[in-house]
Amino acid sequence: MTELTDRPAQPTAARPTTQPAVRPDATTRPGTGSAAWTRRYSGAVMNTFGTPQRVLVRGEGCYVWDADGNRYLDLLAGIAVNLLGHAHPTLTGAISAQLATLGHISNFFASTPQIALAERLLEIAGAPEGSRVFLCNSGTEANEGAFKLARRTGRQGMVAAEGAFHGRTMGALALTHKPAYREPFEPLPGNVVHVPYGDVEALRAAVDGGTAAVVLEPIQGEAGAVVPPAGYLAAARDITTAAGALLVLDEVQTGMGRTGAWFAHQHPLIGGASGEAGAAAGPVRPDVVTLAKGLGGGIPVGAVIAYGEAATLLRPGDHGTTFGGNPVAAAAALATLHVVERDGLRENAAAVGRHIVDALTAPAHPLLAGVRGEGLLLGVLLRAPVAVAVRDTLLAEHGIIVNAAAADVLRLAPPLILTAEQADHFVEALTIALDTVTALGEGS
Ligand code: PLP
Repeated sequence: MTELTDRPAQPTAARPTTQPAVRPDATTRPGTGSAAWTRRYSGAVMNTFGTPQRVLVRGEGCYVWDADGNRYLDLLAGIAVNLLGHAHPTLTGAISAQLATLGHISNFFASTPQIALAERLLEIAGAPEGSRVFLCNSGTEANEGAFKLARRTGRQGMVAAEGAFHGRTMGALALTHKPAYREPFEPLPGNVVHVPYGDVEALRAAVDGGTAAVVLEPIQGEAGAVVPPAGYLAAARDITTAAGALLVLDEVQTGMGRTGAWFAHQHPLIGGASGEAGAAAGPVRPDVVTLAKGLGGGIPVGAVIAYGEAATLLRPGDHGTTFGGNPVAAAAALATLHVVERDGLRENAAAVGRHIVDALTAPAHPLLAGVRGEGLLLGVLLRAPVAVAVRDTLLAEHGIIVNAAAADVLRLAPPLILTAEQADHFVEALTIALDTVTALGEGS
């Protein structure tokens, strides 16, 4: 076993200066380690997620600790959420200060963080005059909002992509593709068709005058960082414009700097048209962008950005939420956006992501088939269906958290503060883990 000791945390300016007043009892009382907590989990928490891999009690920077005191390098960040890592002092400070000032109000009233966040998102989006933001609590809720907004066009048809993941509530689930997630809950909201992701002609054939919206992820996250061919989003824009349909981009996982741009569709390799003329034309302009995950840096916040005229589709009384725009959540999002900008974390995501791709591709381990994705949303492709075995080996023997997005794909979505040294540590550990899995006969 390596890397499971409580070694010193990474050197980072982002380290908290104070310890929490009340510490979890997990590491201080006998019988309260991971095994005991896992039993209690099974006895109390509904079994929707399976058995947890570990019970975690603390986090700092890119590291988390379990209830037995073991430390892990977190390359998943709560599934693409903790952009600033764990317990970032600017974020915890902003949350505490806001909670001590004004914690929650109803949407009969407005708060200054809510207004400032909506303005900042419009600015980041480069949205035209008339654009507006609806704040909510999660990715699935943001997509529900987009779905309802699209139905307000008076059309009913929705076109989504095979492999897509848009959430688990009924409307978002109708847009999600995986049959195992959808079928037990049918009937779902109707008039949704799924077309092969990245196939321009299939999209063109599916969109007509009855189409309210085309909903696409700029990179498919849950599917394992699947990048569409160059020019795909630009073609989707042309197709929807010609049919008078909306283009909804689900940036729940790709947004907020993870790919190196604020939004993946602003990244020239993702949102640009193919060819030189396309590059000159600049990125696509969607009608709606949905956000969540990284937006609050770990506090639940979601958003629907409606561009231009699309912002007029939902009218008073059409949609609502108790917690959306909550002052504490909005303050957390503002603090997260501030640190991403101030500390150059988009640039860091691009540079460290490139560093990982370079390190994993030259020379590649025989079990590695390639790396895809952009910035710090990466899919590591394996030549055999051993992703779960590799994930478990990295966790147990190297103290590294990654995700098995598919049988043969590992997903990395680490904090944007990840350093090149931490990335190197992962690359070395992955090589050893791949050897281990090969030696166990699972890689053949
Ligand atoms: N959309 C995308 C692209 C996602 O990756 C996810 C979650 O993984 C969602 C929507 C749903 O977000 P949430 O889990 O916050 O409801």
